[in-house]
Amino acid sequence: MTEITCKLLVIGAGPGGYVCAIRAGQLGIDTVIVESTKLGGSCLNVGCIPSKAMIHVAEEFEKAAEAAAGKTPFGLTAAEPKLDLKQAVAWKDGIVQRLNNGVAGLLRKAKVKIVHGKARFRDGKTVVVETETGPKTIQAEAIVIATGSAPVELPFLPFGGNVISSTGALALTEVPKRLVVVGGGYIGLELGTAFAKLGAKVSVVEAQDKILPLYDAELTGPISKRLTALGVEVLLGAKALGPTPKGDGLRIETADGKERSLPADRILVTVGRKPVTDGLGLENLVLDMDGRFIRIGERCETAMRGIYAIGDVTGEPMLAHRAMAQGEMVAEIVAGLPRAWDKRGIAAICFTDPEIVSVGLSPDEAKRAGHELKIGQFPFAANGRAMTRHGEAGFVRVVAQAGSELVLGIQAVGQGVSELSAAFGLAIEMGATLQDIAGTIHAHPTLGEAFPEAAMKALGHALHI
Ligand code: FAD
Ligand code: NAD
Repeated sequence: MTEITCKLLVIGAGPGGYVCAIRAGQLGIDTVIVESTKLGGSCLNVGCIPSKAMIHVAEEFEKAAEAAAGKTPFGLTAAEPKLDLKQAVAWKDGIVQRLNNGVAGLLRKAKVKIVHGKARFRDGKTVVVETETGPKTIQAEAIVIATGSAPVELPFLPFGGNVISSTGALALTEVPKRLVVVGGGYIGLELGTAFAKLGAKVSVVEAQDKILPLYDAELTGPISKRLTALGVEVLLGAKALGPTPKGDGLRIETADGKERSLPADRILVTVGRKPVTDGLGLENLVLDMDGRFIRIGERCETAMRGIYAIGDVTGEPMLAHRAMAQGEMVAEIVAGLPRAWDKRGIAAICFTDPEIVSVGLSPDEAKRAGHELKIGQFPFAANGRAMTRHGEAGFVRVVAQAGSELVLGIQAVGQGVSELSAAFGLAIEMGATLQDIAGTIHAHPTLGEAFPEAAMKALGHALHI
C-alpha cells in the first residue's frame, strides 16, 4: 500500500475543501486533497454554477417568448423562440468543465497534491483512500473534513424513474410538460421558476404555510406574485404522500386534509440536503455531532484535536461562500496564524425571479435579539434604473439599531439584486451606520441608489419618496 505523509490533508474538493487547500499551499503548507468525484464539489458540478446557467437560459427564453407574444411594453416583437435544451445543457456542461480545469490548475499552482478516490478514516491521523491503482494511506498532522452534502430522499418517493433530485433536473434534455416540485425552498423555487419559464406546467408542494420559510413575507411577496403570473400552482401546508398507482403523478394531502393527485411527467424532490459522511469511517473517531452534521467550534475545530470540519457537512447555512471562508480560515489556523470566525454576516441570495438578498439580521431577528430599531425601506418603483429595466417590483430594506444607527441587517428583493450583495456585505462587515450609507455617493442611474435611499428613509429624510 502506498504511504503519503503531509502536514494537511483535506477530504473533499468542493468550495470549502479546494479553497482550504489552495490557501494552505500559498502559505507553504505541505497539502494533499482527496476527491472521490470531480473537483469543485456540488457547487461547481451540480449546484450553484449549473443551476445559474440554466436559470439564465430560462430567463433569455422567457424574454424572447414575451417579445413573440407582443407582451413587452416597449413594442419589441420577435418570432416564436425555440430552445434546444440538449444544446443548453451542453453549454452548461462546458462551463462546468472549464471551471473544473480551473480548480485543478489553481491547486497545482499552489503545489497541492491531488489524490482521486474515496477517503476513509482509520484513526485521527490516518486516512485510507481507495484509488484506481489501489489503496493509499495518508498520514497527516491536521485533517479537514469537507465532504459536503447530498439531496435528502423521501422514503416514500425515492429517486429514480421520474422522481429526480436537483442533479437530475439540471441534466434534463427535454422540458417536462408537467413538473411537480416537492419543497418550496431555495432549490425548488429557483429550478421550478426556470422550468416554468421554459414552458413546463409547474406545481410546488410545500409542507409549511409559506414558501422560502427562511425569509419574511414582505421579501417573499414579490416571488409569490411572479409565480402566479408564470402559472405556477403553489400548494402550501401540503404533504406529498407518494406516486400515483400508475406512476403518472404525485398523491398529496392538501392543507384542508383532502387527498389529491397532481399529474406529473417529472417529480423534483428538493426538501433539503444531508451531510455526506457515509463510508467516511467516522466510527473510528470521537466527534461531537449536531444531529447528522459534524459539530464545530468558532475555529471550525471538531471534538478531536487536529481534525477540522467545514462547509455543508457542518450544517446551515449551506452556502458555497461560507464553506470557502471557513476553508480559508482553517488553512491559516493550520499555518499558525491567529484566526477565528469573526464574520458579521453571510449574504444569502435566492436566485428566484425576482431575486432575494439578505445579509445580517432581519427586522424580526433584530427585535428578538432585543434591539430598538430604525428601519428604512425604499421601493424599486421609485428607482429610475429599475423602471428602465422593466423591473419595478421589490425594494431595499435597511435595519439599524436606534441610537447608534449601526446597520444590523440589509435585505432586498428585486430583479438583479444579487449583485447588490457585495455592497450590503461590505457595509455590514465594516460596521457601517445609516449615515455612512446615506453619505456614500451611489452612481446614477443604478439599482444601488435604492440602498442610500433606504438608509435615508430610516433617518427620516429619503429624497425620492
Ligand atoms: P461540496 O460542494 O458538497 O463538496 C464536497 C466534496 O467532497 C464533493 O466533491 C464530494 O465528492 C467530496 N467527498 C465526499 N465524501 C468524500 C470522501 N469520503 N472522500 C473524498 N471526497 C469526498 N450555494 C450558494 O452559495 N449559492 C448558490 O447559488 C447555490 N446554488 C445551489 C444550487 C443547487 C442545485 C445545489 C444543490 C446547491 C447550491 N448551493 C448554492 C449550495 C452549495 O452547492 C454548497 O453550499 C457547497 O457546494 C458546499 O460546499 P462544500 O465544500 O461544503 O461541499
Ligand atoms: P431548503 O431547506 O431551502 O428548502 C426545503 C423546503 O422543503 C422547505 O421549504 C421545507 O419546508 C420543504 N419541505 C421539507 N420536507 C417536505 C415535505 N416532505 N414535503 C413538502 N415540503 C417539504 O432546501 P433545498 O431547496 O433542498 O436546498 C438545500 C440547501 O442548498 C439550502 O439549505 C441552501 O443553503 C442550499 N442552496 C442555496 C442556494 C443559494 O444560495 N441560492 C440555492 C440552492 C441551494
